Amino acid sequence: MEESNEKKENIDENEVIAEKEQEKEETTEKIATEETKAKFTFKCTRCDNCCLTRGPIPITFWDIELWAKNGVVANFLPYLDIYHKPDGGIDLIFKPLPPSPKEGEEKTPRDPFGNVPIEDLLEEKCPLYNKDQKQCLVYDNRPLSCRTYPLEFDGKNFTVVDVDCPGIGEEGMSKEDLKEMRETAKHMFYELTRMRISLPVLSQIISQKVMMDLMRQNMEAMSKMSDEDRAKLDEILKKEKEPQPD
Ligand code: SF4
Ligand code: SF4
Repeated sequence: MEESNEKKENIDENEVIAEKEQEKEETTEKIATEETKAKFTFKCTRCDNCCLTRGPIPITFWDIELWAKNGVVANFLPYLDIYHKPDGGIDLIFKPLPPSPKEGEEKTPRDPFGNVPIEDLLEEKCPLYNKDQKQCLVYDNRPLSCRTYPLEFDGKNFTVVDVDCPGIGEEGMSKEDLKEMRETAKHMFYELTRMRISLPVLSQIISQKVMMDLMRQNMEAMSKMSDEDRAKLDEILKKEKEPQPD
C-alpha cells in the first residue's frame, strides 16, 4: 500500500514537472514571438533599389484623387496601363519601360504603350525613376504603394514583401513611425480592394462606350459615301468572301 502511494506521488510529481516544462516552453515561445515582433524596425535608406526593380506599381483611387487635387493627372497618363494579371484579375499600374538596349543591340522603342508584354518587364525600373539623377521624379505625388513599401497588409496580417530592402532592421523607428507605417499599409489594402472591385466594371463600361463610338463613326462614314465609293467597297467585301486558292 505504502509502495503504491509512493508510486502515485511520483507520477503526480512527474505530471507537475511536465506541466511546468510545457508552461516554460510556451512562455519562451511567447517571448520569442514578441521579441521577433518588436524587432521589426525600418528606416528607408533612400537606396532606391525598390524604384529600380519594382515592376508594375498598382495605382489606386487615392493616387488619382491626389493627382487631380494637385493638377498633375496629365503627367501620369502616358505611364498608366491595365495589367491583366496571371490570376485573372486586373490592376491599373505604372507600366515599366523596356530596358535600354545594350551596346550593339538594336534600339527598342521607349514608348510606354510599346508592345513589350508586362510579364517581361516585372523586374524593370519604375518609369518615373531617373537613374542619372538617382531620384523619383514625382516624389510628392508618388503612389500610396510606394509610401507603404516594403510593408503590406492582406486584411489579416502584415508582410514584408522585400526582405532584401536595406531599410529593414535600420534603427531609429519610433513607435509612432511604426504605427503610421502599419496604418498606411492598411490604407493601401483598403484602396487596392476598392480599385480591384471597381476596375473590371469601369473597364467594361469604357470598352462598351469605345465600341459604340466606333460603330457610330463607321455608320456616319458609310452614310457620307458616294455611290461610286460604296460600289467599290461592296466589290472589296465580295472578293474577301470568295474562297481563296491554296
Ligand atoms: S524602401 Fe527599402 S529598397 Fe526602397 S529605397 Fe527605401 S531602403 Fe531602399
Ligand atoms: S513612383 Fe517614385 S517612389 Fe514610386 S517606384 Fe517610382 S520612382 Fe520609386
